Amino acid sequence: MKLILLGPPGAGKGTQAQRLQEACGFIQLSTGDMLRAAVKAGTEIGRQAELIMARGDMVPDDVVVGIIAERIAQPDAAKGYILDGFPRNVAQAEALDRMLAGRGDKLDAVVELEVDDKILLGRIETRAAETVGGPRADDNAEALAKRLAVYHDQTAPLSVYYKARGVHKGVDGMKDIDDVTRQIEAVLGLNKK
Ligand code: ADP
Repeated sequence: MKLILLGPPGAGKGTQAQRLQEACGFIQLSTGDMLRAAVKAGTEIGRQAELIMARGDMVPDDVVVGIIAERIAQPDAAKGYILDGFPRNVAQAEALDRMLAGRGDKLDAVVELEVDDKILLGRIETRAAETVGGPRADDNAEALAKRLAVYHDQTAPLSVYYKARGVHKGVDGMKDIDDVTRQIEAVLGLNKK
């Protein structure tokens, strides 16, 4: 199964993607995690991305599209994957469509975790306090405000994009973690044993 998890920063995409990975064996592909690893390793991409990410801005499309194209071509992605943090705008979604079509493949579903902005700041503060090794460079009020603005401006339109393609499924991301997992499994038809 090829899935996208869509939702604002702090919506719980990473948590739910990890749970799906454990339950179903689809691998979680998080562009945020990959970029943070590149920053940590000091690669060329990492050097390019570091300041952009710390501000809460978007890394250039060609960089993330390149990272994803390379990753989904790996053998372990054949069983299925969950894209978390990608695509983040319509240009990236179109690039993904072309990439999949080129591989004779298609998306099974796009699950959107719907969460009000009001509760996101609290969640990010909790994550900043709990992250092992200290908070992420972009888990602060200023960068979050920027990430939310970018989300509404560039990423939220993907909801319409995927509704038009008949693959969009919304879940209430404000429920507790287990409840959200159950909703996701239900919309994907995974809990029909
Ligand atoms: P969150 O979901 O909490 O916003 P992510 O880990 O997904 O955090 O992303 C952190 C940062 O990494 C983004 O603010 C952006 O700078 C960069 N990034 C991640 N994915 C993409 C992408 N698909 N396109 C552009 N930038 C990205």
